[in-house]
Amino acid sequence: MASAETLPAEYRVLARKYRPKTFAELIGQDALVRTLTNAISQNRIAHAFILTGVRGVGKTTTARIIARSLNCTGADGTGTATTEPCGVCPSCVSILEERNLDVFEMDAASHTSIDDIRTIIDGVHYKPTVSRYKIYIIDEVHMLSRSAFNALLKTLEEPPSHTKFIFATTEIRKLPITVQSRCQRFDLRRVSGELLAEHFSRITVLEGLEIESEAAGLIARAADGSVRDGLSLLDQAIARAFEFGGSTRAPMVTAESVKSMLGLADRGKIFDLFEATMRGEMALAIGIYDELHEVGADALQTAQDLLEICHSVTRIKLAGSTGAYLVDSSEKQRLQALGSGLSIPVLMRSWQLLLKAIAEIQQASDSKAALEMIIIRLGFMPDLPLPADLLKKAIVDSKNLPARGGATSSGGGGGATSARQGNTVMKLAYANSTPQASEAAELEAIAIPQNFNELVALAEARRDFNLMMELRKNCLVDSFAEGRIELTVIESPSPKFANHLSSQLSKWTRRAWVISLNQGAAGDRQTIAQFEQKQKSEELEWARSHALTSAFLKLFPDAEIKVLPITDPSLPPAPLTPSAAGDSADDSDFNPYRDMVPDSFSPPEDD
Ligand SMILES: [Zn+2]
Repeated sequence: MASAETLPAEYRVLARKYRPKTFAELIGQDALVRTLTNAISQNRIAHAFILTGVRGVGKTTTARIIARSLNCTGADGTGTATTEPCGVCPSCVSILEERNLDVFEMDAASHTSIDDIRTIIDGVHYKPTVSRYKIYIIDEVHMLSRSAFNALLKTLEEPPSHTKFIFATTEIRKLPITVQSRCQRFDLRRVSGELLAEHFSRITVLEGLEIESEAAGLIARAADGSVRDGLSLLDQAIARAFEFGGSTRAPMVTAESVKSMLGLADRGKIFDLFEATMRGEMALAIGIYDELHEVGADALQTAQDLLEICHSVTRIKLAGSTGAYLVDSSEKQRLQALGSGLSIPVLMRSWQLLLKAIAEIQQASDSKAALEMIIIRLGFMPDLPLPADLLKKAIVDSKNLPARGGATSSGGGGGATSARQGNTVMKLAYANSTPQASEAAELEAIAIPQNFNELVALAEARRDFNLMMELRKNCLVDSFAEGRIELTVIESPSPKFANHLSSQLSKWTRRAWVISLNQGAAGDRQTIAQFEQKQKSEELEWARSHALTSAFLKLFPDAEIKVLPITDPSLPPAPLTPSAAGDSADDSDFNPYRDMVPDSFSPPEDD
């Protein structure tokens, strides 16, 4: 390969070449450095340390710097332990070259047994050969066997004054408490994206190349807090830059090459996809996804990118920052704009949907189709009311109604609200009753109707469906007081209607009722049935005119629109029972209770 010639003759991996030699060179671990510096300068040095943190943040590197700090003798050979090891004394040099006789490194991942640890421990009591301290660095210490820990513990309980232990672990919780309690603990933090990007840019320049800031940002983000992982990626990116770079100027690590190296889709396009999806612009969203797919974006990766954006939008909306490293500031603005248009419940449900989507994509034989269907589902989701919202709305609606009871219901309020109220009350009453068993309780609970809607509910509860339908479809209330009801009937009811109502009421409430009927124009008043029909048409109209619907109709021109209630048995029912859409013209036989009404029934016998 031609690039081999252009690479430096003795190429060392960056992570090794730029391994920090002093605390000052350690990036992103300010708190740890401060504590250690204090301890060393006050000569209060623990005899055992634990360094913990995710892989690649610099645990082993820190352990070696501590070893040099403790054993440095200074350039003139008279120094004591220092936070700034000189780097030139025999101790510093030999530790750097990993040949110091008094510094032992052991990887517990491959040396887990009691014998391995015994080899170390046996030497503990001998004085250091050349240095101030004998230092034992045990990496991945949580991997030691139980017996090995027990052997180690004995030494930790009474350590000779000339020994120091430095443990490193990615999984501190797997370490016995007895061991933890004998050590000073330091948590190495994930290095922030900003610091990593700066670090990678600086190193690239030191290597004689140029790097686009977006490229450094992309590597930083992929490194996810790990310096070592990031430097490995930078190694690859630099090798590519040499390979593809021109000869006229310094090779350049470009964002484009990093993207293709990392298999990343164009970030902006992912934002476009998320935005179009959440707006319900389905044709646009699917078009964007097609483009992404054509340039090789993987369905799973795309779903993960959408998930990440969903999280970032939510976080930026609530906390003002994403917590993750943003490649450029325009990304933040974009996230904020997206967040302002989306509610938290919608974002929460999108997150859940996308999480499930990832599993679905992994199982699907056609992953592109799977993600497409998920995008469509996502696009149609935001406008569905949440079950909790529906319940809240039902409660608020019933509280905001005009005063209940006959005193105020002169009939004028007989329209929308009271019909709605009636519907709610009635259905709740029905839902709460099981036939026969609770009849006595039901009678008590319903007691004497205080308004027209309660009257309708009572008729239903007592299963006088003919009476109920007559009240719903044909009656407007003029006045309502206990024992006396005045109704306007639109069409002449059966001659026995008034008598039937009166006697049923008397039977159910055990008191006398006087019913007067007026015949006349309804004016602008509506029966319960009319109100519900009107509401249903409005809902259909709303659904038809919605942006999501028109986007969907473009894709599926033959689709039929239906407004469906949420069918959750724990909730009050939606105000309408759906019927086929589009037949709004004539719905006079609309009956939300048709499922409950026997095909044929006769009105209950009058007493
Ligand atoms: Zn030194």
